[in-house]
Amino acid sequence: MNPEEFRKEGHRLIDWIADYRAGVAKRPVMAQVKPGEIRARLPKAPPQQPESFDAIFADLEPLIAAGTSHFQHPRFFGYFPANSDLASVLGDYLSTGLGVIGLSWQSSPALTELEEVMTDWIRQMIGLGDAWHGVIQDTASTSTLVALISAREKLSNYSLAKGGIQAEPAPLVAYVSGHAHSSVDKAATLAGFGAANIRHVAVDADFAMQPDALRAAIEQDRAAGLKPCAIVASVGTTTTTAVDPVKPIGALAKEFGLWLHVDAAMAGSAMVLQECRWMWEGIEDADSLILNPHKWLGAAFDCSTYFVRDPQHLIRVMSTNPSYLQTSVDGAVVNYRDWGIPLGRRFRALKLWFLLRANGVAALQARLRRDIANARWLADEVRKTPGWRVLAPIHLQTVCIRHEPAGLSGEALDRHTLAWADAINQSGGAYVTPATLDGRWMVRVSIGAIPTERADVAAFWKLAQDCAVSAH
Ligand code: PLP
Repeated sequence: MNPEEFRKEGHRLIDWIADYRAGVAKRPVMAQVKPGEIRARLPKAPPQQPESFDAIFADLEPLIAAGTSHFQHPRFFGYFPANSDLASVLGDYLSTGLGVIGLSWQSSPALTELEEVMTDWIRQMIGLGDAWHGVIQDTASTSTLVALISAREKLSNYSLAKGGIQAEPAPLVAYVSGHAHSSVDKAATLAGFGAANIRHVAVDADFAMQPDALRAAIEQDRAAGLKPCAIVASVGTTTTTAVDPVKPIGALAKEFGLWLHVDAAMAGSAMVLQECRWMWEGIEDADSLILNPHKWLGAAFDCSTYFVRDPQHLIRVMSTNPSYLQTSVDGAVVNYRDWGIPLGRRFRALKLWFLLRANGVAALQARLRRDIANARWLADEVRKTPGWRVLAPIHLQTVCIRHEPAGLSGEALDRHTLAWADAINQSGGAYVTPATLDGRWMVRVSIGAIPTERADVAAFWKLAQDCAVSAH
């Protein structure tokens, strides 16, 4: 494709996306397709000859749009919001259109320096001290893996330069909340701790890690000759947005010399609101933290900001310096390849630059406040309706609910919950993701797609009640 053809088809694609976003509310939220249906409609082998863009565009609606669940729909209440603000989408296009790769500062100076400035803008927006330094990773999963590898290396006095973790005299132990995201366990496992050395610390009635239980676990492991190494605190857990108390956990990390990583993948965006900052009181005592602007804040996926207090440690653990990547300015610049796992890096900072400039911080704050108010409104409606229950505190925008008809309990209640959640999703009128809490199924209503207004939440609540009646 030459640049003139790109101009023509690119305009057509932008029009297609603009129409898609403008009309997304009319679509069923969850894809109404069966497993294998899309694959069966695709050619089994690639074309030998070029196809026209008319033919390609003709497939977008029936194969792609119809085969997609719509995260940008105003009645998308699943998982966590994955807001892809259209300004940020343009930043993503620019990144891809430039087609540059950050291998070193010299390979694309603007890529590096914009990333330095964007992560610093985010740092300021969320009220972190200026001792923190940020880098953009693809996902929170990667960032937490980097954090736990860093912790492992710090506590093992750089085992990677010796016999690796296998030569350590005592196994290293990681402590995570019983409600930590699955990516935390995965990161600890991949960082070499081993599933047997991951402690799932007990949570309290609000699903937050109990510092006393954490202390007991650390002391017990020390007494048994193991080496406590890292704590991962979750600020905004995935199931309920529970908040582990960072301050007492940080005090324990300090007392026992452990690395503290804070997973604020979702809730980190809310730290742009002064009134939410209580949630990570004590954050300045952490060693690393993660927040995903690609969730609630609005950066197009993927854009995960990882902050560390000691970049020199990160560089020591992650750096590589082959001759073909060395440049004469290496001593004077940041080479972000040394701040994470991949060598080649996308120009992700453009997504944040476009998002933040086109919206301004005040508009982002107003949107987040709108979503929190909508969550509280829904929780109030649910609480005052007989036969319905709100199951966890509303810290942010997620409301955990259950319909509990008289006489239903245990597995029968679970079957009912899954049936009405499925009825909501199959109806196309809204999309929710059920999850288990205290061993029983419930439904998370995760509010916060960019176009979601109070009327959408009210429409969801009516649909939820209708579906619960028909599922009973
Ligand atoms: N941590 C929390 C609290 C999450 O909710 C999620 C995903 O929803 C993750 C980590 C993983 O995020 P990612 O998809 O960026 O790896």
